[in-house]
Amino acid sequence: MPEFTIYILDPFHPDAVALVQSIPYVRAILPDDPHKANWHADADGIMVRSDSRLTEADFAKASCLRAVVKQGVGVDNIDLEGAKKHGIAIHNTPALNSESVAELSMALTLTLSRRVGEIDRAVRSGQTVIRSQVLSTSMFRKTVGVVGMGNIGKIIAQKWIGAFGCQIIAYDPYAAPSAWNDIQHTRVEALDDLLKVADVVTLHVPLVDSTRGLIGAHEFGVMKKTAILVNCSRGGVVDEKTLLVAIEKKQIGGAALDVMEIEPPTLSVYGEFLKHENVIMTPHIGGSTKENQSRSGMAVAETLMDVLEG
Ligand code: NAD
Repeated sequence: MPEFTIYILDPFHPDAVALVQSIPYVRAILPDDPHKANWHADADGIMVRSDSRLTEADFAKASCLRAVVKQGVGVDNIDLEGAKKHGIAIHNTPALNSESVAELSMALTLTLSRRVGEIDRAVRSGQTVIRSQVLSTSMFRKTVGVVGMGNIGKIIAQKWIGAFGCQIIAYDPYAAPSAWNDIQHTRVEALDDLLKVADVVTLHVPLVDSTRGLIGAHEFGVMKKTAILVNCSRGGVVDEKTLLVAIEKKQIGGAALDVMEIEPPTLSVYGEFLKHENVIMTPHIGGSTKENQSRSGMAVAETLMDVLEG
């Protein structure tokens, strides 16, 4: 049996690390190992999350690298063309984290619509909150616009219908006509038709050329003034400069962002956003449940071993 050298470049759940370390013919290099920086020299396989960026220059230097497996679905931190040019297989773990991301998207929506964060902060700071002055918005039977009819979008749609009796408007120019046959929804061919009517616009598309800046000045102008934008996809999908203008001008009701162009979010970069009570941010934690991290991390390790042994 050949020996494989696997570099775990980003922090993985202990279950995934233990799995790799339990294979007798694998030499596992962990993220805190000083040898990590030399992965180009002897890595047969690599395990990554969103933290590491892998470029064509990396692949050109990696003489024995055969495969990279990324935890989660988005592979925008990996130069796919560069990998292909050097014959390196790239895999991901689609669908495994969908439930966790859908949950967070709903949690952010409800936090904002029910003003939970804002009111909690007031209570913590010792203010007496006058209930009649903190009326919030119920999600019961509201219209949810789902942009991207993939794995996460589908689960979100099912949950909003099942839990809150919401109406679903969906937009995805690439989804098959039969997509979501089993879900009560209205599919629109133009994004504006969703934006005009949605109380919540929830984004579930990959970051690719056609989705970069998908939501910008024009789209904020079309959205309802009360609408909430929820982004659990990728930061680049929303044009952040125009989002700030839209918030300042009260063109929309608020924004909940799990992903930003510059991550993790800091006060020095996003302080202007965070002055507004109707903006909430989390640092890309859509998939960060114990259950998902264990399941997806182990799937990464298993996929990598399948490729190396295959
Ligand atoms: P998926 O591939 O199952 O679905 C993506 C859908 O987007 C597809 O149906 C595709 O046709 C559609 N799409 C592509 N371009 C579009 C466009 N221009 N307009 C409308 N729809 C378009 O992926 P998924 O599992 O549902 O995940 C969606 C995205 O969520 C991922 O690509 C990733 O970037 C992001 N994500 C974020 C987190 C997080 O922690 N916040 C976790 C997982 C995934």
